[in-house]
Amino acid sequence: MNATVLITGAGSGIGLAVARRVVARGARAILWDISGAALTAAQAELGAAVETSVVDVSDAAAIAGAPLDGVTHLVNNAGILGQRMEWGALDAEHLQGIFDVNVVGLMMVTQAFLKARVSHPQSGIVNLSSIAGENGGAPGFAAYGASKAAIMALTRAMARDFAPDLRVNALAPGIIDTPIQDAVMTAPDARAQAAEGIPLGRLGAADEVAGTAEWLLFDAPYVTGETIRVAGGRR
Ligand code: NAD
Repeated sequence: MNATVLITGAGSGIGLAVARRVVARGARAILWDISGAALTAAQAELGAAVETSVVDVSDAAAIAGAPLDGVTHLVNNAGILGQRMEWGALDAEHLQGIFDVNVVGLMMVTQAFLKARVSHPQSGIVNLSSIAGENGGAPGFAAYGASKAAIMALTRAMARDFAPDLRVNALAPGIIDTPIQDAVMTAPDARAQAAEGIPLGRLGAADEVAGTAEWLLFDAPYVTGETIRVAGGRR
């Protein structure tokens, strides 16, 4: 398959799971992450089908300096949750730090992708939102929830503005068992307790989100502007 997929935040969790699926499908992947060590491990696992660059998506100069040869698809996956912050402590700096990565970073990477991309019949973008964008997020994580709501709106705007050349969709995962959850799941039984609030009775796996991303990227030619929950029935 003649596709090259840029995946941000590809060193861990959902991004790495998407990279594995892209490579298994015979496509190339360009992996960006802020962690060089994570990228080295991903490169060792996935081999010549991937190329990696250390890129902080909130750093315009880093984005401009990273190679994007032959890119056809984009997965805007990099995202941060931030520390738990109750309303009394919430300040502009906290909110800005999260929006710089989750929203401004997504926008800057999308602009770089638009400049560099080469055409492909299934070309498209998948943005990682969250059900937190609908439910406001876990207590103490309001800024994260707000940033993920912004991604839903950006997805609809991009889908309208980039049609018919590109399809743009978002995923809204529920509680997926990746390292990002460590800030929320601090109690020893937190994962078991969280599972009780999920209709399917368990946390999701990164590969279950990646499977839906793969479908949106390559197998959903008439789907654009949608946000699809991958949440085990949780809202
Ligand atoms: P993760 O923490 O396992 O992986 C995130 C990756 O992004 C890490 O490798 C990290 O180094 C990288 N990263 C962080 N900041 C970056 C930056 N500024 N530039 C480039 N890379 C950066 O998390 P995950 O669970 O795989 O999350 C992936 C995406 O899915 C995020 O956008 C997250 O908000 C979203 N999401 C996750 C869940 C969940 O429950 N895990 C739920 C809903 C949405």
